[in-house]
Amino acid sequence: MADRTERHAQATIHAGGEWLEAISGETREILDPADARPFAVVAEGDEKDAERAVAAARHAFDQGPWPHTPVTERAALLRRVADLLVRDREELGLLESRDAGKTAEEGRVDIDCVADAFRYFADLVAAEAPGRVVDAGSPDIHSVVVHEPVGVCALITPWNYPLLQASWKIAPALAAGNTFVVKPSEITPMTTIALIGLLAEAGLPAGVANIVTGPGHTVGARLAEHPDVDLVSFTGGLASGTKVAQAAAPTVKKVALELGGKNPNVVFADACATEEGFDTAVDQALNAAFIHSGQVCSAGSRLIVEEPVRERFVAELARRAQKIRLGRGTADGVECGPLVSAQQRAKVEAYVASALAEGGVLRCGGKRPQPSPERPESGWFYEPTVLDACHREMKVVREEVFGPVLTVETFRTEDEAVRLANDTEYGLAGAVWSADTAKARRVAARLRHGTVWINDFHPYLPQAEWGGFGKSGTGRELGPAGLAEYRETKHVYENLAPKPVRWFAG
Ligand code: NAD
Repeated sequence: MADRTERHAQATIHAGGEWLEAISGETREILDPADARPFAVVAEGDEKDAERAVAAARHAFDQGPWPHTPVTERAALLRRVADLLVRDREELGLLESRDAGKTAEEGRVDIDCVADAFRYFADLVAAEAPGRVVDAGSPDIHSVVVHEPVGVCALITPWNYPLLQASWKIAPALAAGNTFVVKPSEITPMTTIALIGLLAEAGLPAGVANIVTGPGHTVGARLAEHPDVDLVSFTGGLASGTKVAQAAAPTVKKVALELGGKNPNVVFADACATEEGFDTAVDQALNAAFIHSGQVCSAGSRLIVEEPVRERFVAELARRAQKIRLGRGTADGVECGPLVSAQQRAKVEAYVASALAEGGVLRCGGKRPQPSPERPESGWFYEPTVLDACHREMKVVREEVFGPVLTVETFRTEDEAVRLANDTEYGLAGAVWSADTAKARRVAARLRHGTVWINDFHPYLPQAEWGGFGKSGTGRELGPAGLAEYRETKHVYENLAPKPVRWFAG
C-alpha cells in the first residue's frame, strides 16, 4: 500500500492490473475532516477512465480464469485477503479514521468487520452444493439449477463506512466469480485503493478488481449506464440512487440500491421501569444517534418515547450528549470525530435551523463546539444535538439529516408508536425497547424496516441480510441474499432420451 502511494501518489486508478493516473491528468486533494488540510492526492478520473476500467473488467470476465476458477480456490483467496486485512489493521484503521473523520477505534473495528465479510462469503460459497437437481418426473430428464456470476459489476460506495460498504459488495462479487469496477466516494477513497492492492497481493488475476477514483456525476454515472456493465450495486443517498436506477434502466442491468434511512428508536416506559433498564435504554439511544457523529445510514435519529418517561429520558439523554468528547479521531479519549465535509456540516446546520423555525425545542447542541487543540477551528465539528417537541410535519423528522441530530417524538399507545415508527418514506432499520417481550415482538413484527432490533441498536451480522424497505432501497447485502445479488440463475434441462414432439402434423 505504502509502496504504491509513495511512488505514484496520483496513480490511484487500477485497470487491467496497472496503477494509472487519470487520462485527463486531473487530481484531487483528499482532506482531513479534523482540520480541512489535504493529506493525500488522488487521480480525478472521469468517464474515459470509467470506460477503460470497464473494458479491463469485461476482458477479465470474458477471457480470464476467474469466473471459472474452482470455488474452493476463490474462497481461499478471499480468506487470504482477510488475513492481509488483519495484518494491516492498524494502518488501514488509521487511514479510515483520517479519511472519514471517525475515531481510530471505529476505524479499527471497521477493518475487523471488513475481514469478517471476506471470511463470511468465503465460507458461504465453499459450503454450497454445486447445483439443485430438480425432479422432472421422468428418469429421462436431468434437470439442474445452477448459479453463475453475473459478469462485470459496477460498485459505487459512500463516504461514511468507505471500506466496509465496499467490502459488502466486493467480497460477494468475487466469491460468485465476477469481475468489478469499484468507485469509492470521491472524498474518502483511500482505504478502497489500499484494498485493491491487497487483492492483487492475495493473487487475484489482473483485470478482476478495478478502481476508478473520481466524482459520481461522471465516473459513477458512466458506470451505471455502461452497456458492458451487467450489474450496478450502489450505496448512497436517495437522490443519487434514483439517478443510478434511471441510468441503468435502458440497458436492463441488475440494480441493487442501499439508500438512506430515517430510523425510529421506540422506547416504551416499561423499558425504563428499573434504574438499570433506564440507563441501558438512554445509553443505547445515545449510541444509536451519535456514533460516528450520526453519519450512519441506520442511525437512530428519531427517538419515539412513551409519554410517562419522556421528560426524564430526554433530560438524561441531553445531559450525556453534552459530555460527548469531540475531536480529531486519533486524539486520546475522543469519542466522536468531525463531520466528513464542510458541505455536510452546512447541511446539518440548515436542518437544525429549519427545525427551530418549525417549533422544535433545542435541548442541547445546535452549534459548532468551541475550538481546542484536539478540535481545531478549521475542522468540521458539530455538537451532538437533541431536538424536542418534534412531529412529522417537520422537515428534520421526514428527511435524512446524516449528522448528530436526534429528534424526539412522543406516543401514548402501542398503535401510535407503530404508526409513528412506520411514518417515513424510508425503511432501513428501527428498534423497540420494552421489558414486555410479547409486546416488543408484536411491535417488531409490525415495523416496516429491513432490520429491527429488540432491546438493542446497531449490531448487524454478516450472516443476516441487510437492506431497506420503501425508499431505503432494493436488494440486500450480506447473508445468502447478499451473495445471490451477484449471480444469475440458470436452469439446465437435459433430455437423456430425445424423441420427436409431433406437435405439427406435416
Ligand atoms: P451520495 O449519494 O452522495 O454518494 C454515494 C456514491 O454515489 C458516491 O461514490 C458518489 O460519488 C456516487 N454518486 C453520486 N451521484 C452519482 C450519480 N449520479 N451516478 C452514480 N454515482 C453517483 O451519498 P454519500 O453522501 O456518499 O453517502 C451518504 C448516504 O449513503 C446516506 O444517504 C446514507 O444513508 C447512505 N448509506 C446507506 C447505507 C445502507 O446500507 N443503506 C450505508 C451507508 C450509507
